[in-house]
Amino acid sequence: MKRTHNAVEFLSNEHGVLWRLAHAAELPLNLWAVLRDMRSSLSEVFARHFGDDEAVKFALAANLPYYADDPDTFWWLGYAMAQGGYLRSGGYYIKGGSQTLSNRLVEIIREEGGETLSGCEAVAIDVGPAGEAVGVRYRSASDGADTLALAPVIFANAAPHVIEGLLPAEHRAAFMQPYRDRPVSISLFSVTLGLNKRPSAFGVTSYSTQLIPAWMERLGDYKRSAELMGDMPGDRMPAMGVVDYSQIDSGLTDNGVFPINAVCADRLENWQGLSDDAYTEKKDTWLRAIIRRLDEEWPGLADAVVETTVTTARSLHEYLNTPGGAVYGFAMRPPEHLLTGPPRSVETTINGLWMASSFAGFGGFTGAMAVGALAAQTAMRDATIGK
Ligand SMILES: Cc1cc2nc3c(=O)[nH]c(=O)nc-3n(C[C@H](O)[C@H](O)[C@H](O)COP(=O)(O)OP(=O)(O)OC[C@H]3O[C@@H](n4cnc5c(N)ncnc54)[C@H](O)[C@@H]3O)c2cc1C
Repeated sequence: MKRTHNAVEFLSNEHGVLWRLAHAAELPLNLWAVLRDMRSSLSEVFARHFGDDEAVKFALAANLPYYADDPDTFWWLGYAMAQGGYLRSGGYYIKGGSQTLSNRLVEIIREEGGETLSGCEAVAIDVGPAGEAVGVRYRSASDGADTLALAPVIFANAAPHVIEGLLPAEHRAAFMQPYRDRPVSISLFSVTLGLNKRPSAFGVTSYSTQLIPAWMERLGDYKRSAELMGDMPGDRMPAMGVVDYSQIDSGLTDNGVFPINAVCADRLENWQGLSDDAYTEKKDTWLRAIIRRLDEEWPGLADAVVETTVTTARSLHEYLNTPGGAVYGFAMRPPEHLLTGPPRSVETTINGLWMASSFAGFGGFTGAMAVGALAAQTAMRDATIGK
């Protein structure tokens, strides 16, 4: 992992000539780490190093569902970059929660004289005769009216499966061609509880804790965790990541309620075909089962619950408008061919339409930000060349 990070750092524009000269001697070994496993899965690399020692694998990759749930198909280099960064420098939390970041970005746009709209659904992208972006039609949530915003440059943040449906029919097949047949990432089942006491009062000791159930004996068992939510809770509970926001300066504990979040891999299939009543009942039953599980781990915690919020793959599918409720874009599978750079592509078949979401690269905040920045840089370069 360290060598992979070092190779990527060397090839980036982060450092000057002197730094590069000082580190040139390490480059062959670092590059070899990247090349050797460019097409490997996490399971393959772990098997080479640890054989059947599953305990070591769990210790190193306990937080696997932060990215995926099947180590056999999860791309080693994606894991090495994401988990390597996490192990090297820890995680980062946006103080006040991710909405704070969105709010700040909106403020910056407005401070610079831009305009922002929320609660408006993009319903069509107009395309000109030469295949160029003309503008976005959006529907206002307040009055349901459709408006065309003229825009020769469009950054599309929704999943390509959604963008496809917004384009004129004759442009859809070509636009979708690079994305067709690519499996999407996992979805999540997320429970946030508000407690009337600090979680540490019940023995929670860390910001992030992974609860790995006893039935999981191999790292590959992670992929059987999400399917448990296809039924009502039984003997087996899913693997869970638990976050205690009061362990850090999160800005979320100011009102005397202490939030704690439990998250598991989920699938949209687990919640499809249910009436609204059956869906609500199943969701509530799982909520209670998860509170019981947390109470087993940290006795007394259940009695301190004063608020609950639950999201399922189905609610994420509806809210984010992603296929399968995916939260990390496409699944990070090993590439079929050797790569010459990171697998990110913001270009589309429509001139002026750029993909700026995790579906154009990697998921998670870091992945989404990197793709957004790349889309902006590419569009500005394109505009300069066009002048
Ligand atoms: C519960 C949960 C916890 C997470 N925790 C973490 C974490 O700790 N760390 C981390 O790095 N990542 C985390 N993630 C993942 C991270 O949030 C995503 O990978 C990232 O936000 C993806 O960014 P994006 O820009 O691709 O898409 P999104 O952030 O999903 O943004 C896409 C937006 O487009 C909107 N949209 C879709 N269609 C339309 C339309 N037709 N018109 C108008 N708007 C539309 C959607 O409503 C959505 O707001 C978490 C995700 C979830 C759900």
